[in-house]
Amino acid sequence: MKKLRLILGDQLNSEHSWCKNQDKNVIYCLFEMRQETDYVTHHIQKIIGFFAAMRNFADELKSQNHKVIYYQLNDEENTQSLVSNLSKIIRENDIEKFEYQSPDEYRLDKQLSDFCKKINIESEVFSTEHFYTEREDLKTFFKGKKQFLMESFYREMRKKHQILMVDQQPEGGKWNFDASNRKKWKGDVLIPSAKNFDNDVSEIVKDIEEAGVKSIGKINEKYFEYPISREQSIEQLEYFCEHLLVHFGDYQDAMHTDQIFLFHSKISFAMNTKMISPKEIITKTLATYRERKDEIDISQVEGFIRQIIGWREYMRGMYWMLMPDYKKENFLENKNKLPDFFWTGKTKMNCLKNAINNSLDNGYAHHIQRLMITGNFALLTQIHPDEIDAWYLGIYLDAIEWVQLPNTRGMSQFADGGKIATKPYVSSGSYIHKMSNYCESCKYNKNTKFDDDSCPFNSLYWNFLDEKQEQLSTNFRMKMMYSLLNKMSSEERSNIKEKANHIIQNINEY
Ligand code: FAD
Ligand code: SF4
Repeated sequence: MKKLRLILGDQLNSEHSWCKNQDKNVIYCLFEMRQETDYVTHHIQKIIGFFAAMRNFADELKSQNHKVIYYQLNDEENTQSLVSNLSKIIRENDIEKFEYQSPDEYRLDKQLSDFCKKINIESEVFSTEHFYTEREDLKTFFKGKKQFLMESFYREMRKKHQILMVDQQPEGGKWNFDASNRKKWKGDVLIPSAKNFDNDVSEIVKDIEEAGVKSIGKINEKYFEYPISREQSIEQLEYFCEHLLVHFGDYQDAMHTDQIFLFHSKISFAMNTKMISPKEIITKTLATYRERKDEIDISQVEGFIRQIIGWREYMRGMYWMLMPDYKKENFLENKNKLPDFFWTGKTKMNCLKNAINNSLDNGYAHHIQRLMITGNFALLTQIHPDEIDAWYLGIYLDAIEWVQLPNTRGMSQFADGGKIATKPYVSSGSYIHKMSNYCESCKYNKNTKFDDDSCPFNSLYWNFLDEKQEQLSTNFRMKMMYSLLNKMSSEERSNIKEKANHIIQNINEY
């Protein structure tokens, strides 16, 4: 039977059982398409990263004697649409069965299941063989529960997969070492240079320019630094385990003007394209820990493992549990526009300038920059979640909707009313000062609320609490902040309001 097998740009898993046996009746197809470059404005490095990794993957398949049809962006036969490309290939090659791997994105899942209903040949969906959990697992796990706590899911994962467990108890005596993951980096501990590759992607850049694809951000086309093949993904992981794991947990939340990656692994793009699997990452991390136990503390390892078997799998499960309605949630009824400086980095607020410029320059910002700088500011200034989603989905190399949406709309913007985060992640300037050196070289004064040079986060924070009192004051975790707000004099509250409104109305001047 002649089969066509589709491989999407984030399904580059060369360990997949599909790749194990060659079959002359099977054709694999991969497409670079305007459908994918244009559904949101992407960072140039994100488009290049995906296409470069897809081209490498197709070459790998060909070198193993698999039959491959690969449409580059400007190829004449490329219709730029997934279903038209598939229909054309099915027709031209007398295909009798169409097979694809379960897409992680709702949009593509729907497009492909609709397509299969229309074609008059057999079709079948396969697992991507990538995640620890199945799509529907969280729905089952949280059935009948009112709260969907990541921590309870994470503990279950540790038990089920026997990760950092001793006699059914958590290794080190605790499930979670989060409290020791909050050090500020003061330059006292040496940060090894980030692992960079020097991939020449100038051919693909030329294709993108020729096609006129709109993008944001910068690229160095001779030195594309992220992994774009399985070998490079493995190297990225090995580098992390050898040099960075030792302090990963300590400085997980730290931010610094001179540092982009700190002790972070930079592995999300490789993992989200499935060039490397979470299981491989956990296995290698645990092996490194066992070999160097006298040097690497459990808090570093647990902190990292929690991100992968905890947060990453949890976000995927929540996405599939809550879509498609999740994409429309706006619990706090925010409606402002995203400031222009999110697209240019031109702001006087040093924390935002650093986080946004990191993102524009590298297609990367680490978790706390995304959550407590850009996300925090967007929430405090009450930006509509659709605008925020479009920015986060476009700007990061690792942004694919299944992981971006729950992180942004849920974790960061509380737009789901608390399904993912138990409270809104908002703060005044004091948290930013505690975790970074940003405030030291900022034009604004982190210590005051409503002077001309006061840190904007300070008035915005209290104003946010004031304006969202109806929705948030009954939240147990917000009680203390509301009691502080309610103790403020009416004069102080009105000064805060005036200052915050000025910021919101003149946001691009700050
Ligand atoms: P490390 O800090 O080294 O962490 C290791 C790995 O853990 C990451 O590669 C990632 O796969 C996983 N991980 C850590 N935190 C999370 C999380 N909250 N959710 C899922 N996986 C996690 N991650 C994405 O992969 N794509 C996104 O589009 C994305 N959008 C985000 C938006 C917001 C508002 C926030 C707060 C976080 C977002 N994250 C996203 C999670 C996290 O910021 C990135 O995974 C991380 O910064 C990637 O860099 P790293 O590989 O160096 O991560
Ligand atoms: Fe950011 Fe305020 Fe600190 Fe400036 S003072 S870096 S605006 S938190």
